[in-house]
Amino acid sequence: MFENILGQKKVKEILSSQIKNAKLAHAYIFMGQDGVGKRLMAQEIAKVLNCATNNFNKGETYACGVCSSCEKINKGIHPDLHFVDFAKQAELEQSDLDKQKAIKIETIRHMQKEASTKAHEGKYKVFIIDPAEKMNIAAANSLLKTLEEPPENTVILLIAKHKETIPKTIVSRSQVLFFQALSQDIISTWLMSNCSLDSRRAKEIAELSEGSLENAKRLANEKEASGLSLWHKIRDQQLYISDILELSKNVAKSGALECVDAMTAEAKKDFGIYPEKILPALELLNNSRTLLLKNVNAQTVLDNLFLDLQSLYF
Ligand SMILES: [Zn+2]
Repeated sequence: MFENILGQKKVKEILSSQIKNAKLAHAYIFMGQDGVGKRLMAQEIAKVLNCATNNFNKGETYACGVCSSCEKINKGIHPDLHFVDFAKQAELEQSDLDKQKAIKIETIRHMQKEASTKAHEGKYKVFIIDPAEKMNIAAANSLLKTLEEPPENTVILLIAKHKETIPKTIVSRSQVLFFQALSQDIISTWLMSNCSLDSRRAKEIAELSEGSLENAKRLANEKEASGLSLWHKIRDQQLYISDILELSKNVAKSGALECVDAMTAEAKKDFGIYPEKILPALELLNNSRTLLLKNVNAQTVLDNLFLDLQSLYF
């Protein structure tokens, strides 16, 4: 169960056993840093409870993942799965998302109104409050009333980074599950199979990601993007030498090899358009890669590479 969630062995064990015995709590707090699978786990719980193929109440523990209910939950459009978050609040208030700083009592009241009705098409109503630590005091007090008298067939999942930021009265009425930081092994393996990174680059990013898959994805994209845009810049713009030297200085600091690899990937895409120019460009990129692997000073290698590439195109 929960194969699509990385790591979190202990949380999975606890929830699996509760699901097997059809004994989920009314409210959980999924605690842990960003990017470790809390929200994904909350959605999985919603699937297990509402799957049209398997019946949670008969001890069937798996969500099929493909029935109409599971599909709607995957897409975030199931009428019995409710997100109580800044996006929802902005929608209710008809205001901008970036103006949302706290989850307010009106948003919790809206949730309570939903909770007091029967499930629309699923069997269970699931509310995901995220980030729960952003509830203001009035909102938290209002939620407390719901936790004291939990509605039938309803599971409330609070998602938060730290327990200390949530009122004790709420913590004491919820089951707290801690989500651990993901290991570097788990993250680098994921990067290799999902972002087609080689093991060295995947390991480097995993080391910088602080156990968060979100961080790792962002870092992988940033590195990718910097090489990608750099290739286009050098190919399409007449840069001054001072600009080029500035570029190579920055890239040398942020990860020369990743950048050269990303530029190589971009250059290969241009092969069909200007093959006569791309071959020598690929050769330059490849030579630079070899020099970087031999630990030749990155800035020197990049200075030469960028100047040589520019002279190919202008
Ligand atoms: Zn299903």
